[in-house]
Amino acid sequence: MAIDGPAGVGKSTISSKIARDNGFFNLNSGNFYRAITKYALNNDIDYNNEDELIAGAEACNFKIEEGRLYLNEVDVEDDLHTDQIDSLVAQISAVVPVRHIVNENLRRIARSMDLVAEGRDMTTVVFPHAEIKIFLDASPEIRAKRRKDQGVSDRSFEEIVESIKERDRIDRNKKEGSLIIAGDALYLDTSDLTIEEVCEKVTEKIND
Ligand code: C5P
Repeated sequence: MAIDGPAGVGKSTISSKIARDNGFFNLNSGNFYRAITKYALNNDIDYNNEDELIAGAEACNFKIEEGRLYLNEVDVEDDLHTDQIDSLVAQISAVVPVRHIVNENLRRIARSMDLVAEGRDMTTVVFPHAEIKIFLDASPEIRAKRRKDQGVSDRSFEEIVESIKERDRIDRNKKEGSLIIAGDALYLDTSDLTIEEVCEKVTEKIND
């Protein structure tokens, strides 16, 4: 099963609940791009230099253990949501060979388990044959408010709105894997829905 949608729409919360309720593994593709971004930052990679970024991505070995993402044998699951990574990840994930490296890793992992894959191009590029496809949406302001309410960002509401709009712009204009709604996906505008209501709608679709 595959779920796509823009930054901050609640994909991770919804996907992990759906995964838990149905005995699937929740594969968060954004975390792979975040981990590569973290690697680039830690290794002083010039993120405007594509060759350096590609070499960096190639040096990243991924594995999942007990539901957590390991980068080169280190558990990075809790280190991926910093403002610095937020600001750079859309740009780094726009590099096409970096995407191919991530996609290969995602498909390799998917061979060994039933999963809910979440991201931007899960329903269109990475798992186009997924049995169930969902597209979650909400306005940038609603998404910024949710992010602010999480209390994990030091930024003002206005700065978060701008950062989300900038990520949307990059995510919708990627050469490959850009954020589009698959023709066979269930489109859900979550702006006025609670997490429980979204999960109910997704569950209805699963039981359809
Ligand atoms: O989902 P999340 O916001 O954590 O993803 C971080 C970033 O990684 C996104 O802003 C997007 O630019 C990129 N991404 C992507 N393709 C995916 C998942 C995430 O380009 N399948």
